[in-house]
Amino acid sequence: TVGVVGLDRAGSIVSATSTSGLFMKRAGRVGDSPIAGGGFYADSEVGAASATGLGEDLMKGCISYEIVRLMRDGLSPQEACEQAVNALETQLIKRKGTVGDLSVVAIDKNGDYGCATTIANFSFVVATDKIEPTVFIANRV
Ligand code: ASP
Repeated sequence: TVGVVGLDRAGSIVSATSTSGLFMKRAGRVGDSPIAGGGFYADSEVGAASATGLGEDLMKGCISYEIVRLMRDGLSPQEACEQAVNALETQLIKRKGTVGDLSVVAIDKNGDYGCATTIANFSFVVATDKIEPTVFIANRV
C-alpha cells in the first residue's frame, strides 16, 4: 500500500491509499485500504491518517479514525500514531495472541506529522514548503 496524508495552503486535509492488497489474498478479499476509518481518514478541522499492513488487523481498530480522534483530543500526530498502534497491538495480542504488521502516518492541521510501526525500518517521505522530499526510517517504539 502507498498511503498519503496532506495539508494544502488553504487548510484542506486529505488522506489517500493505493493498494493491490496482500500477496496470496483470497479472491474477493477487501482489505482496509478502501475503507474510510480503517486504511485512511481525514478531517480538515483536525488532521489525517493513513495505514498499511495486515488489513484484517488494521480494520479491527478503525485505526486511521482512531488516530484522528486522538489528535482531536489534543495529542500530537506522533503521540496519536504511537498510542493507536500500541493500543491496537495490545488488543490484538490479547484477542488472538499475534499481530500482523501495522504502520501508520498522520498529519495535523498545523502540518506536524507522525509515524508509528510494529516493523523494522518502515520508510516514509516528508515533503513540505520547508523540507525537500526526505526519506525517514521508523522503527517499533
Ligand atoms: N493494508 C493492505 C491490505 O490489507 C495491504 C498493505 O498495506 O500492503 O489489503
